[in-house]
Amino acid sequence: MALILVTGGAGYIGSHTVYFLRQRGHEVAVVDNLSRGRAKSVPDGLLHQLDLRDAAGLTALLQSRPFDAVIHFAAFIAVGESTKLPELYFSNNVASSISLFEAMLKAGVKRVVFSSTAAAYGIPTHVPIIETQPSQPINPYGETKVMVERILETLDLHREFRSVCLRYFNACGSEPAAGLGECHEPETHLIPLILRAVRTGQPVTLFGDDYPTPDGTCIRDYIHVSDLAEAHINSVEHLLRGGESQVFNVGTGHGHSVKEVVAAVERVTGKKVPVTLGPRRDGDPPSLVADSTKLQITLGWKPTRADLDRIVSDAWDFAQHGTCA
Ligand code: UDP
Repeated sequence: MALILVTGGAGYIGSHTVYFLRQRGHEVAVVDNLSRGRAKSVPDGLLHQLDLRDAAGLTALLQSRPFDAVIHFAAFIAVGESTKLPELYFSNNVASSISLFEAMLKAGVKRVVFSSTAAAYGIPTHVPIIETQPSQPINPYGETKVMVERILETLDLHREFRSVCLRYFNACGSEPAAGLGECHEPETHLIPLILRAVRTGQPVTLFGDDYPTPDGTCIRDYIHVSDLAEAHINSVEHLLRGGESQVFNVGTGHGHSVKEVVAAVERVTGKKVPVTLGPRRDGDPPSLVADSTKLQITLGWKPTRADLDRIVSDAWDFAQHGTCA
């Protein structure tokens, strides 16, 4: 069993991954500046409140215990915000990552799993998307993730610094047994917004119904956060075995339209979703679906919670019983 530092472990995907790492018997420490994460999502005694740009603090933390690897989630993720404040994203997502990798090298920790994104592909040329499609992000958020992937490629080449970059598709759902769920402020993601509409009666806006898809709404690959967390564990264990650097898509391989998600919420909750139709959102490709064959073959990962109703049902459980306070 290994000792793993999780950056951004107070966030949505990070906190789920901490939960599954510990279930698997790994020892975990969390570093998070709590600018967007929630301290309550981190088990007692694990949290070090620190900004990754605090090079001295981070190096001291990494040198304080014999860490085997790092899983690096800490980042800002709002595409719209990144177009308004790209400098914030370069500082928080790229400069922070460089600071982390420098501290890791100083401490002799040379294995990292990195949260990347399907936004790396921009408007894909083919769907389902394979990892060899070119990285052509169309917003600063995606740009920051691609920049860090490039840095990791170079560190692999010259510093024997091994990494797995996981390009996530649409993370969603929750782990009811862990009491964890999705809490973004402001919330921009489809499933929590639809569930909020069910609870409040305030309609959710569908961003366009004139896309070249069967029902006119955008298609996305919705991946359960617990399946995503398990992909991180498979990846870190691959690195701990001495595995080489890799880039993997993480998705189910199945796309669902916005209208299909609305229908799933109606099935699961038994309630009508109030919806209103709005214009397209800037920068939304019509269809993003992952080909995750490489991850499945290389690391034996398989999504076990891919059913859309299961995903919605777990998200609904958190919306009803969980708290973002
Ligand atoms: N979407 C929508 N209304 C909303 C939020 C999202 O119609 O209030 C659509 C969005 O256009 C996209 C899909 O839902 O096609 C998923 O969007 P989300 O923001 O959850 O994730 P993204 O695909 O942008 O990472």
